[in-house]
Amino acid sequence: MKLVRLRNVSVALVLLISTLFVLSALGQKPDGWQKYLDESNRPVKPFKIIGNVYYVGMNDLASYLIATKEGLILVDTALEESGPIIRKNIQELGFKATDVKIIVSGHAHFDHVAGHQTMKEQTGAKIYATAPDAMIMQSGGMKGFFPFTDHKYRPVMVDKIIADGEWVKLGGFAMQAHMLPGHTEGNTAWTFTVEDSGQKYGVLIAPSMSVNPGVKLVNNREWPGVADAYVDSFKKLRALKCDVFLAPHTGFFDLAGKMEKLNSGAKSNPFIDPEGFRKYVDEMERAFNDERKKQLLSQKSGE
Ligand SMILES: [Zn+2]
Repeated sequence: MKLVRLRNVSVALVLLISTLFVLSALGQKPDGWQKYLDESNRPVKPFKIIGNVYYVGMNDLASYLIATKEGLILVDTALEESGPIIRKNIQELGFKATDVKIIVSGHAHFDHVAGHQTMKEQTGAKIYATAPDAMIMQSGGMKGFFPFTDHKYRPVMVDKIIADGEWVKLGGFAMQAHMLPGHTEGNTAWTFTVEDSGQKYGVLIAPSMSVNPGVKLVNNREWPGVADAYVDSFKKLRALKCDVFLAPHTGFFDLAGKMEKLNSGAKSNPFIDPEGFRKYVDEMERAFNDERKKQLLSQKSGE
């Protein structure tokens, strides 16, 4: 899950989402929650982002398709209900869902991997994940330091465990996993190079770096080192190469605005946005530091 939405979103909406999220985490079913998920899952037209990378996801829940000579790689499957939308998008772009050979993910929360098991059955693809997130996925989201017990998904058997720094290879293409623990224990960024119009670009599928409401950064019994993990991960994330900035939620990198620019014939590809990436990391790190400070202060005042 994410909480912080960046550009194009009013403060009021962020507050609404936070409130809905907290209620949901507490096991209550707020009226607006389903509406929020429905809106996040609304179909959008699939399109080529750059080189061999395509957008096959929804309005806010992202899903990426990478085409290689020996088949397709799918990054994130979103919700169970997203499956038919993603498969239709793959087809609309002229590919076959049964050519998806590998499914990877950014992190094991329900809004990014709940569709994994069904997608695996429908495509025959193998699931790759980091060890800590594989454990969460195999439990249907019920394990990990902060499970969303209201959002159990179909447990999925992970076929291959990916280590930090490992390359996933298919048909001459390779993408590297960078484990950035914090949002989940096995939270992962992906980097690879694409070629477009004779130029090479570094693509970064950034991880979610938000702190979910209710997560204890101070005195966390389930994961005492969670705050230190975030600090290390921000440092590591900043060092990654990023020309083309992508992320698990489209609000993180303004997919809608960039799509509009692309459709209106922008001279340079709007998804080439290293500045947007730096801003994203800055905003997420500021939000993390603020939350940590707030928790430390309330601990000191004996609350
Ligand atoms: Zn998440």
